[in-house]
Amino acid sequence: MATSRFFESPAPGVEFAYEGELLHAEDSRFQHIDIYEHPTFGRTLVLDGAVQTSERDEFLYHEMLVHVPMLSHPEPKRVLVIGGGDGGTLRRVLEHPTVTEAVMVEIDERVTELSREYVPSIGGDVWDDPRATVLFDDGNAYIHADGEPFDVIIVDSSDPIGPGIVLFEVPFFRRCYERLTDDGFYSAQTGSAFYFQGEVNMAYTNARAAFPDVRLYLGHVTTYPGTLWSYLLAGDDVEVDAPAALARSAERKISARYWNPEIHAAAFALPGVIREALGPGAPLGVFTPRS
Ligand code: SAM
Repeated sequence: MATSRFFESPAPGVEFAYEGELLHAEDSRFQHIDIYEHPTFGRTLVLDGAVQTSERDEFLYHEMLVHVPMLSHPEPKRVLVIGGGDGGTLRRVLEHPTVTEAVMVEIDERVTELSREYVPSIGGDVWDDPRATVLFDDGNAYIHADGEPFDVIIVDSSDPIGPGIVLFEVPFFRRCYERLTDDGFYSAQTGSAFYFQGEVNMAYTNARAAFPDVRLYLGHVTTYPGTLWSYLLAGDDVEVDAPAALARSAERKISARYWNPEIHAAAFALPGVIREALGPGAPLGVFTPRS
């Protein structure tokens, strides 16, 4: 089995290297797509050299991106997923029996086709769920078009490079807020809380220009640089209510391996060095020498 190495370098002199069998590689209209068979993480999807998801640790990411906003809402019926081509986010959304319609808008059809072929366990049988509508379009164009409001909008995008950049800008956040129902929630992945503080600050600052209430929360993803990953939860009034989330998860029979009500609450407790990186003009970069 011929193996090949690839690595992500989030900072000068820092590399997270992986070695596995390269099963497929291609340039789509939007990005370079690689699929690896990795000895520890199993089938792994890599876009433009950045690990997106793997069979073994995808639950760490998808449970926090999805269950935190979905269990913050009393009865989410209509849900929008932007990005998420591998299907893992859509699958977690449809685990909530309150959902009557879930729309996924992924820009790159090849990501979904290759994920279904090489990493089928991540999306599972979500593609056949009658509540699911899968569209291949730019999420920014979709959200700016007219349409019904959503109870929850989840942005499972790649990092703010290439096609993903527009999903971190103020006009997109503003339009997401307009497309939410009154008690609706928005969530998104915002990158490494340690290595990508510039991106985290940009996403948080831009979201605050659109939503009345924005909170950063944290989780762990073993295939992402630095493992400690950040997410946004936004809406009119973001109340972190772990007892309510627990009751809703029991009622909806949500089975999770990472998410639980204690983690739901703890995820919003930010270390000082991350909280300070959110402020305007904040000194970005945990490793930036403090004057
Ligand atoms: N969890 C991963 C992460 O944190 O890096 C993201 C996984 S998911 C595969 C990311 C998806 O966002 C990709 O399939 C990419 O094609 C899609 N995407 C990027 N920009 C987009 C846009 N403007 N509209 C819709 N989908 C987009």
